[in-house]
Amino acid sequence: MKIICIGRNYADHARELNHDTGLAEGADEPLWFLKPDTAMLRNNDPFYIPAFTQEVHYECELVVKICRVGRAISERFAHRYYDEVGLGIDFTARDLQRRAIAEGLPWERAKAFDHSAALSPRFIPLTELGGDVQRLRFKLEVNGRVRQRGDTSQMLLSVDRLVASVSQYMTLRMGDLLFTGTPAGVGPVTPGDTLRATLEGRELLNFDIR
Ligand code: MG
Repeated sequence: MKIICIGRNYADHARELNHDTGLAEGADEPLWFLKPDTAMLRNNDPFYIPAFTQEVHYECELVVKICRVGRAISERFAHRYYDEVGLGIDFTARDLQRRAIAEGLPWERAKAFDHSAALSPRFIPLTELGGDVQRLRFKLEVNGRVRQRGDTSQMLLSVDRLVASVSQYMTLRMGDLLFTGTPAGVGPVTPGDTLRATLEGRELLNFDIR
Protein backbone atom coordinates (compact mmCIF):
# COMPACT_ATOMS: atom_id res chain seq x y z
CA MET A 1 0.00 0.00 0.00
CA LYS A 2 1.01 3.59 -0.38
CA ILE A 3 0.24 6.85 1.36
CA ILE A 4 -0.41 9.77 -0.95
CA CYS A 5 -0.33 13.23 0.60
CA ILE A 6 -1.69 16.43 -0.89
CA GLY A 7 0.01 19.75 -0.20
CA ARG A 8 -1.56 23.24 0.04
CA ASN A 9 -5.19 22.20 -0.41
CA TYR A 10 -6.64 24.85 1.90
CA ALA A 11 -6.05 28.50 1.02
CA ASP A 12 -5.60 29.64 4.62
CA HIS A 13 -2.78 27.13 5.22
CA ALA A 14 -1.11 27.85 1.87
CA ARG A 15 -1.00 31.48 2.95
CA GLU A 16 0.44 30.76 6.39
CA LEU A 17 3.34 28.79 4.83
CA ASN A 18 3.86 31.20 1.98
CA HIS A 19 6.38 33.42 3.70
CA ASP A 20 8.75 30.60 4.58
CA THR A 21 8.25 28.13 1.73
CA GLY A 22 7.48 30.34 -1.25
CA LEU A 23 4.54 28.11 -2.23
CA ALA A 24 2.06 29.69 -4.59
CA GLU A 25 -1.70 29.44 -4.50
CA GLY A 26 -4.12 28.84 -7.31
CA ALA A 27 -2.73 25.70 -8.94
CA ASP A 28 -5.37 23.56 -10.60
CA GLU A 29 -3.25 20.41 -10.37
CA PRO A 30 -2.60 19.09 -6.86
CA LEU A 31 0.83 19.07 -5.32
CA TRP A 32 1.38 15.55 -4.01
CA PHE A 33 4.06 13.37 -2.50
CA LEU A 34 4.28 9.87 -1.03
CA LYS A 35 5.06 8.36 2.33
CA PRO A 36 6.11 4.68 2.58
CA ASP A 37 4.19 2.14 4.68
CA THR A 38 6.96 2.40 7.30
CA ALA A 39 5.71 5.95 7.98
CA MET A 40 2.52 4.63 9.57
CA LEU A 41 1.94 5.32 13.26
CA ARG A 42 -1.10 3.38 14.43
CA ASN A 43 -3.33 2.61 17.40
CA ASN A 44 -2.78 6.06 18.93
CA ASP A 45 0.77 5.02 19.81
CA PRO A 46 3.01 7.86 21.04
CA PHE A 47 5.07 9.81 18.51
CA TYR A 48 8.77 10.12 19.31
CA ILE A 49 10.40 13.25 17.93
CA PRO A 50 13.31 12.08 15.79
CA ALA A 51 16.84 13.31 16.47
CA PHE A 52 17.47 14.72 12.98
CA THR A 53 15.06 17.64 13.26
CA GLN A 54 14.64 20.60 15.58
CA GLU A 55 11.14 21.48 14.34
CA VAL A 56 8.45 18.84 13.80
CA HIS A 57 5.05 20.25 12.92
CA TYR A 58 1.64 18.58 13.18
CA GLU A 59 -0.69 18.81 10.17
CA CYS A 60 -4.11 17.32 10.87
CA GLU A 61 -5.84 16.03 7.73
CA LEU A 62 -8.87 14.12 6.54
CA VAL A 63 -7.67 10.75 5.24
CA VAL A 64 -9.59 8.92 2.52
CA LYS A 65 -9.21 5.15 2.16
CA ILE A 66 -9.21 3.79 -1.39
CA CYS A 67 -11.52 0.77 -1.72
CA ARG A 68 -10.90 -0.49 -5.26
CA VAL A 69 -8.25 -0.61 -7.93
CA GLY A 70 -8.30 2.18 -10.47
CA ARG A 71 -6.20 4.18 -12.84
CA ALA A 72 -6.94 7.22 -15.01
CA ILE A 73 -10.19 7.63 -13.08
CA SER A 74 -12.50 10.36 -14.31
CA GLU A 75 -13.64 12.91 -11.76
CA ARG A 76 -17.30 12.00 -12.12
CA PHE A 77 -16.66 8.36 -11.17
CA ALA A 78 -14.01 9.07 -8.51
CA HIS A 79 -16.51 8.75 -5.63
CA ARG A 80 -16.76 5.01 -6.37
CA TYR A 81 -13.15 4.53 -5.33
CA TYR A 82 -13.48 5.43 -1.63
CA ASP A 83 -16.10 4.81 1.02
CA GLU A 84 -14.38 5.36 4.38
CA VAL A 85 -12.62 8.32 5.94
CA GLY A 86 -10.47 8.83 9.00
CA LEU A 87 -8.03 11.38 10.36
CA GLY A 88 -4.28 11.53 10.22
CA ILE A 89 -1.36 13.71 11.21
CA ASP A 90 1.13 14.46 8.46
CA PHE A 91 4.16 15.03 10.70
CA THR A 92 6.61 17.30 8.93
CA ALA A 93 10.21 18.15 9.75
CA ARG A 94 9.65 21.79 8.84
CA ASP A 95 13.32 22.74 9.11
CA LEU A 96 14.31 20.02 6.63
CA GLN A 97 11.40 20.87 4.35
CA ARG A 98 12.38 24.54 4.27
CA ARG A 99 15.92 23.59 3.34
CA ALA A 100 14.72 21.17 0.64
CA ILE A 101 12.47 23.83 -0.89
CA ALA A 102 15.24 26.42 -0.84
CA GLU A 103 17.61 24.01 -2.57
CA GLY A 104 15.03 22.61 -4.98
CA LEU A 105 15.41 19.10 -3.53
CA PRO A 106 12.79 16.36 -2.88
CA TRP A 107 10.80 16.39 0.36
CA GLU A 108 11.25 12.79 1.54
CA ARG A 109 13.60 13.51 4.43
CA ALA A 110 11.11 16.06 5.76
CA LYS A 111 7.95 14.06 5.13
CA ALA A 112 8.52 10.32 4.72
CA PHE A 113 10.39 9.39 7.89
CA ASP A 114 9.31 6.57 10.21
CA HIS A 115 6.00 7.24 12.01
CA SER A 116 5.42 10.51 10.16
CA ALA A 117 1.90 9.41 9.18
CA ALA A 118 -0.25 9.03 12.30
CA LEU A 119 -3.53 7.31 11.43
CA SER A 120 -6.76 7.01 13.32
CA PRO A 121 -7.40 3.44 14.53
CA ARG A 122 -10.89 3.76 13.13
CA PHE A 123 -12.11 4.70 9.66
CA ILE A 124 -15.77 5.61 9.38
CA PRO A 125 -18.07 4.75 6.47
CA LEU A 126 -18.92 7.98 4.66
CA THR A 127 -22.57 7.00 4.71
CA GLU A 128 -22.46 7.20 8.52
CA LEU A 129 -21.28 10.80 8.22
CA GLY A 130 -23.95 12.01 5.84
CA GLY A 131 -22.41 10.72 2.63
CA ASP A 132 -20.82 13.96 1.36
CA VAL A 133 -17.04 14.01 1.69
CA GLN A 134 -17.03 17.78 1.03
CA ARG A 135 -19.24 18.43 4.05
CA LEU A 136 -17.15 17.24 6.96
CA ARG A 137 -15.66 19.10 9.87
CA PHE A 138 -12.65 18.10 11.89
CA LYS A 139 -10.66 19.64 14.69
CA LEU A 140 -7.26 19.20 16.29
CA GLU A 141 -6.54 20.07 19.91
CA VAL A 142 -3.05 20.27 21.33
CA ASN A 143 -3.04 20.00 25.12
CA GLY A 144 -6.76 20.76 25.16
CA ARG A 145 -6.53 23.91 23.03
CA VAL A 146 -8.02 23.95 19.54
CA ARG A 147 -5.23 24.57 17.01
CA GLN A 148 -6.78 23.51 13.72
CA ARG A 149 -10.34 23.53 12.41
CA GLY A 150 -10.96 21.83 9.11
CA ASP A 151 -14.03 22.08 6.92
CA THR A 152 -13.74 19.98 3.79
CA SER A 153 -15.97 22.40 1.88
CA GLN A 154 -12.96 24.74 2.01
CA MET A 155 -10.65 22.42 0.04
CA LEU A 156 -9.15 24.08 -3.03
CA LEU A 157 -9.40 20.78 -4.95
CA SER A 158 -12.17 18.31 -4.09
CA VAL A 159 -11.47 14.72 -3.07
CA ASP A 160 -12.89 13.55 -6.41
CA ARG A 161 -10.55 15.88 -8.21
CA LEU A 162 -7.58 14.62 -6.17
CA VAL A 163 -8.42 10.97 -6.87
CA ALA A 164 -8.83 11.72 -10.57
CA SER A 165 -5.59 13.72 -10.80
CA VAL A 166 -3.33 11.34 -8.90
CA SER A 167 -4.73 8.28 -10.72
CA GLN A 168 -3.60 9.72 -14.07
CA TYR A 169 -0.05 9.00 -12.91
CA MET A 170 -0.31 6.10 -10.45
CA THR A 171 -2.64 3.15 -10.11
CA LEU A 172 -4.65 3.36 -6.91
CA ARG A 173 -5.18 0.18 -4.98
CA MET A 174 -7.48 -1.00 -2.26
CA GLY A 175 -6.09 0.16 1.09
CA ASP A 176 -4.11 3.09 -0.27
CA LEU A 177 -4.52 6.18 1.88
CA LEU A 178 -4.97 9.73 0.66
CA PHE A 179 -4.09 12.58 3.04
CA THR A 180 -6.12 15.46 1.66
CA GLY A 181 -4.23 18.50 2.96
CA THR A 182 -4.23 20.54 6.12
CA PRO A 183 -6.06 23.71 7.14
CA ALA A 184 -4.35 26.66 8.86
CA GLY A 185 -2.97 26.42 12.37
CA VAL A 186 -0.04 24.05 11.94
CA GLY A 187 2.66 24.30 14.58
CA PRO A 188 5.51 22.56 16.37
CA VAL A 189 5.18 19.64 18.78
CA THR A 190 7.25 19.18 21.91
CA PRO A 191 7.66 16.18 24.24
CA GLY A 192 4.75 15.97 26.67
CA ASP A 193 2.16 17.36 24.23
CA THR A 194 -1.12 15.51 23.72
CA LEU A 195 -2.81 15.59 20.33
CA ARG A 196 -6.54 14.92 20.11
CA ALA A 197 -8.56 15.10 16.92
CA THR A 198 -12.23 14.70 16.19
CA LEU A 199 -14.16 14.20 12.97
CA GLU A 200 -17.77 15.33 13.11
CA GLY A 201 -17.54 15.16 16.89
CA ARG A 202 -16.14 11.62 17.00
CA GLU A 203 -12.76 11.28 18.71
CA LEU A 204 -10.44 9.47 16.32
CA LEU A 205 -6.94 10.47 17.44
CA ASN A 206 -5.66 10.88 20.98
CA PHE A 207 -1.96 10.31 21.56
CA ASP A 208 1.15 11.77 23.15
CA ILE A 209 4.35 13.30 21.86
CA ARG A 210 7.55 12.04 23.47
MG1 MG B 1 0.18 17.90 4.92
